[in-house]
Amino acid sequence: MNKQIRINYIESFGTQDGPGVRMVVFTQGCLLKCLYCQNPDTIPIQGGTEMSWEEIFDKAMRQKEYFGTRGGITISGGEPLLHAEALLPLFKAIKEAGYTTALDTNGFVWNHHVEDLLEYTDFILLDIKHINPHTHKKLTGVQLSPILEFAHKASQLNKRIWLRYVLVPGWNDSDEDLHEWARFGASIKGVERVEILPYHTLGVPKYAEMGQEYLLSDVKTPTPDLKNKTKQIFEEEGLKNIVVK
Ligand code: SF4
Repeated sequence: MNKQIRINYIESFGTQDGPGVRMVVFTQGCLLKCLYCQNPDTIPIQGGTEMSWEEIFDKAMRQKEYFGTRGGITISGGEPLLHAEALLPLFKAIKEAGYTTALDTNGFVWNHHVEDLLEYTDFILLDIKHINPHTHKKLTGVQLSPILEFAHKASQLNKRIWLRYVLVPGWNDSDEDLHEWARFGASIKGVERVEILPYHTLGVPKYAEMGQEYLLSDVKTPTPDLKNKTKQIFEEEGLKNIVVK
């Protein structure tokens, strides 16, 4: 087994990706190609820097006093589940040390390594980017059904789930899509929190640096009214603990 994990970037004191203070590890490689991806440099499977799980663990332990009782490590990406096998000993060690583990995932990968990793995962931050299969394919390049299936499986494993919705004006902000997304979310047992992440353009300069065209250049960030409407619809459909970031 290759114990190396390809890392794009490590954020030492993250407070946005899971409970408490966390070390957030952005892994390299993703099977999706979201039109609005703000970290397009994490998409290529090759790239980044190779680290062993022990190196990541040691780095986390050097800042453990900041974790408190709720904090720990979040593996984000890119797509962390592509590294499930190599991440397993890291998650085991983090939990043994008394800290929490989280995955920030698009839910598109499922295999027995993922299943093993979920056993040692406290929080799953699951992005479901669109509820309409046709538009989901246009927006992300992949099918929706494996992602919904992932949500069901994580729920059956009694995982603590935070659902995330990147709100993109003109793409996934119709009343119909919002109601349907929220109905699906409300049907998933174990959802503790729902985060509405307003679309932003901070990563757009990376496209030019990479010599790629940014295809959503005409999309504006959501207005306060749209954010309020989204939250209201989510509440109407029975979702609880909704946070607009
Ligand atoms: S899933 Fe995340 S990392 Fe992958 S393309 Fe989409 S936004 Fe980018």
